[in-house]
Amino acid sequence: MIAIDHIHKAFGATQVLKGVSLDVAAGEVVCLIGPSGSGKSTVLRCINGLESYDSGAITIHGQTVDVRRSDIHRLRTRVGMVFQRFNLFPHRTVLENVMEGPIFVKGEPRTDARRHAQELLEKVGLAEKQAAYPTQLSGGQQQRVAIARALAMRPEAILFDEPTSALDPELVGDVLTVMRDLATEGMTMVVVTHEMSFAKEVADRVCFLYGGQIVEEGPASRVLSEPQNARTQDFLRRVL
Ligand code: ATP
Ligand code: MG
Repeated sequence: MIAIDHIHKAFGATQVLKGVSLDVAAGEVVCLIGPSGSGKSTVLRCINGLESYDSGAITIHGQTVDVRRSDIHRLRTRVGMVFQRFNLFPHRTVLENVMEGPIFVKGEPRTDARRHAQELLEKVGLAEKQAAYPTQLSGGQQQRVAIARALAMRPEAILFDEPTSALDPELVGDVLTVMRDLATEGMTMVVVTHEMSFAKEVADRVCFLYGGQIVEEGPASRVLSEPQNARTQDFLRRVL
């Protein structure tokens, strides 16, 4: 579904991605791990066209991701993204935050958008918070609203960039539960995370990024329990 073929990316003189290739099948959950600065966020941002790449190719269902194309906005609606910081609209209620994209970006009728948003808030366990404002919610609740907002666009895949790393430890579990449910339902997901137990349990595949290259990848159980590459071994020794 998502095909990344040997992409390179530089910021000025700094080569940040050095030939990253990654195929994600429909329904697959891929976790991307690696040290700070290894290029994890850049890979995600290239996938949904928030960032351009210099060479190589990325396609979503065969359609090339090219930030210069006029249809890039439509492509972006097909691949949702959830960030470390939730970026909800502070002056909109929870329900409005979830309804906004479908109405203004996709032109969905208001009543349909509202019904769908309410279903999604129920799904993430926040039905009773629909009239609240983001500042009245905990970080974990805000992140679940952000996930509902991404789902409201009916994306074919969702990219998560460290969705739990800004949260207090006791709030992490609820967010991971929502993500686990999504994975079980067959959502295609690429997840940058430091939650190794989540990766071990939920990921079909784990890719270890180091210095802008995927230096090791394979089934989660293999990569996390029996890493072959010395860099992966060293990284896991630090984080586990
Ligand atoms: P972290 O775990 O800290 O989030 P990361 O693996 O997500 O790290 P990236 O954010 O992808 O890493 O950054 C990879 C490299 O690219 C870093 O060296 C970073 O400084 C650099 N970089 C990222 N964005 C930009 C930018 N907009 N301009 C210049 N350099 C950038
Ligand atoms: Mg990052």
